[in-house]
Amino acid sequence: MKDCVGYLKADLAADMVNWVTNTDWCVYAEVAEILGGYEGADTLGCLLEITVYSEVEPTPTPIPGASVVSPAAEPSPASESEPRIAGLSTKPSRSIDTGKLTVTPDGAWILNPNCGFRLTIETGKDVAVQVKALLDSRLRENLYDGEERLAPIIARSNLRCREIEEYVCIWRPRYLKRIEELKAASEEWATAGEMDRDDLLAQFKGQALAAIDVRPRCDLDVLLDSEPVNATIDDALVDRYGFDAVDTYLQHIGKPAKVHRLAPTHPQRQRYESLLTKGLARRGSDIPVAAILADFKLKEMAQLAPPGLGPFGRKAAAIQALTNVPDIRERLGKVVAFRELFQLLPLPEEFAGIDLGAVGTSWAYTRTVTNLFVGTYMKAAWELRSFAFYDENPDLVRGWEVRPGSKACPYCVSKVGRVPSSTPRPRVPFHIGCYCDVVPV
Ligand SMILES: [Zn+2]
Ligand SMILES: [Zn+2]
Repeated sequence: MKDCVGYLKADLAADMVNWVTNTDWCVYAEVAEILGGYEGADTLGCLLEITVYSEVEPTPTPIPGASVVSPAAEPSPASESEPRIAGLSTKPSRSIDTGKLTVTPDGAWILNPNCGFRLTIETGKDVAVQVKALLDSRLRENLYDGEERLAPIIARSNLRCREIEEYVCIWRPRYLKRIEELKAASEEWATAGEMDRDDLLAQFKGQALAAIDVRPRCDLDVLLDSEPVNATIDDALVDRYGFDAVDTYLQHIGKPAKVHRLAPTHPQRQRYESLLTKGLARRGSDIPVAAILADFKLKEMAQLAPPGLGPFGRKAAAIQALTNVPDIRERLGKVVAFRELFQLLPLPEEFAGIDLGAVGTSWAYTRTVTNLFVGTYMKAAWELRSFAFYDENPDLVRGWEVRPGSKACPYCVSKVGRVPSSTPRPRVPFHIGCYCDVVPV
């Protein structure tokens, strides 16, 4: 399901929102979260949470005592006491000026000095310029593949984002300490076998994550659990196979034997076709029957069995029995299209020395950091745009209301509510990966 994010293009998502709401006001929308769908058939339907950015002209509620000419109103003879407010009659520009790339005294780069939440990267100037251009072009052109294009840069340049590192510096020690406390407090842990310990550890990690007050919306366990390993390991793979292929390959390296079923229209289908031609995957009839059957339910396997075979009590027994049926491939061919089945292959001998587990972990970390980085940059930039009008017309605002983003963390929830306009406007995001909103009252 995770793979859906990024395949609904921003402008297409905006069209969809306009179509569903029967309006024409949304210019940019992106998939923020996959909330659900049909497991195993994710192209049939997904429940998506969409972040929407509107181009609508601000139509503030008239404030008693203030004179406002609504842009929607018919032109009427405006008296001297009802001046037309600059900015209301023209459509706001779509351009967002996040500010010029600015070097800090210690040689880091601030990417968005005009924003309320600034992002600072430690890297060479060339990379900083490249990253800034990419992020701003994503803002201007609704590029949806910002993350796709940025991930290889982050992975290969060892770029560090200070705000993300600061977050990790504060919260990782607390997270790890909490896990150790939970282990020490658990009677089961001391005597548990290896498998049970894995199970318990997953439970402890969940509890330790839940105890964190400031939670960016991302794969937080990946961010706090792992650290990037030597990025040069990835380089050899990327040089040989290209970024997309390595990305797809490493996403599934945790379960290399899994058979992936991808209909021709599946967004990932092209990527798997490419793995096939690069020798990193095999397809359909080349995949062992047992691996294909591993994803079948017992009931489905019973339907494949010839008369007299079965019923099956356990999956392993069913797979073994069916594998020995002489015409099992023909039987399977009636219920699945072999062309839609793909399975990863091991890397060739020359990469035998690579610890794929470690590379996969490092890659997942880079992915998480990239998504967090891009998401935070976009949120801070759009905040700038949303308030350009109100910042120029403070008289129209009586106060601000902080609204929590979905899955807002305890820290953000504590900020929810109204604040009077006499206090400075709360600036979002409140932290990296925060998707809360502030709206004028
Ligand atoms: Zn938060
Ligand atoms: Zn928040």
